[in-house]
Amino acid sequence: MENRIEKIKKQLHSQSYKLTPQREATVRVLLEHEEDHLSAEDVYLLVKEKSPEIGLATVYRTLELLSELKVVDKINFGDGVSRYDLRKEGAEHFHHHLVCVECGSVKEIEEDLLGHVEKTVESQWEFQVKDHRLTFHGICKNCQSEHD
Ligand SMILES: [Zn+2]
Ligand SMILES: [Zn+2]
Repeated sequence: MENRIEKIKKQLHSQSYKLTPQREATVRVLLEHEEDHLSAEDVYLLVKEKSPEIGLATVYRTLELLSELKVVDKINFGDGVSRYDLRKEGAEHFHHHLVCVECGSVKEIEEDLLGHVEKTVESQWEFQVKDHRLTFHGICKNCQSEHD
């Protein structure tokens, strides 16, 4: 945890930003709930538990900054809510998601399945790909077995 905080701190410094206590509180919540795909409001409620003096606007601005700096990725699973997802250490691309339409569970695939697709896009459309989003909507294994 401290290690990851230190790395994020350096990442901010390299772009001339400071990891202020408010920003650090937000980053800690994201690290503690790495698997959770929290919305800004979720993050705010968790930050507030430990640091009641931090307001929603501050948390919101911090999340926007972190997404600009590519510390987090902003994602929308089609329910109109922006969620914030920490980028995995050293990841070149944003990991893929499997969203269950029945129970709402979200699984992550870290392996990049789109390398080949990116090459096609680059050569056919002369478009330089920087990143991509891939979300599958379907029925998870648990929900499938409930149907049996
Ligand atoms: Zn994710
Ligand atoms: Zn499910």
